[in-house]
Amino acid sequence: MASKKPTVLLNHYLKQLRLPTILREYQTTAQTCAKENHDHVTYLLQLVERETFEREQRAAERRIRSAKFPVLKTLDTFDFTAQPGINKTLVRDLMRGDYLEQHENILLLGNPGTGKTHIAKALGHAACAQGKRVQFMTVTGLVTQLLEAREDRKLDKLLARLGKLHLLILDEFGYVPFSKAGAELLFEVVSRAYERQSIILTTNLPFEQWTEVLVNERLTGALLDRITHRVNILEATGQSYRLQDAKKRSRRTKN
Ligand code: ADP
Ligand code: MG
Repeated sequence: MASKKPTVLLNHYLKQLRLPTILREYQTTAQTCAKENHDHVTYLLQLVERETFEREQRAAERRIRSAKFPVLKTLDTFDFTAQPGINKTLVRDLMRGDYLEQHENILLLGNPGTGKTHIAKALGHAACAQGKRVQFMTVTGLVTQLLEAREDRKLDKLLARLGKLHLLILDEFGYVPFSKAGAELLFEVVSRAYERQSIILTTNLPFEQWTEVLVNERLTGALLDRITHRVNILEATGQSYRLQDAKKRSRRTKN
């Protein structure tokens, strides 16, 4: 019994210190290290490295869950040849995340089905893996939340929560026009983010038509000014991927 005591205590402390990987691995790693004649420092290093690695992985998974991507997309499944207008070098560059350090924005422009949301999700996923706090939402979803929060006198709380993000992904700007209050609240989020956070915005609406959605011309100018001050623009000029895909399939069935 006496010989068991150190492991019992060790297990207890490892649990208390929240080191689940070391707890799981320390005995098998001890055996392999003994076999391979590694010293104690190497043994300890191996365990600590594994704990750190798994902790980072768990944190990234948590961030991905809290970003609330409806469906996860990565760049592996993006076919750049189907969308030659999209600057592949710029996308790859942005995936590294330097724009987040500079608090730059990204605008994804193009017709429906051209992969804007796909790329936005892939960039968001990469940011999560790089330790950033990310939230994905549709612009309409955000404005609805803002209006509801204001109604419930919880607007400050919501704005504070949004303010903690490194990256806010706003999908589908331009599908639904906003009320005056909605447009003003959206502007509030964008102006608070200015030079402090990054925003990725996807839209099928050319700049000239933004007033139609935001109603007020001055507000549109001010919002555009903030979003485009430090911006990376990706513009899909090609056809809808769904359409290309459907055409390919119908050609196949005809042949
Ligand atoms: P958008 O946001 O521009 O309307 P999406 O990103 O929603 O378009 O794309 C529509 C569908 O087509 C999605 O399932 C997306 O994954 C897929 N898709 C779009 N473009 C590509 C592409 N170049 N390669 C692979 N899949 C694509
Ligand atoms: Mg989309």
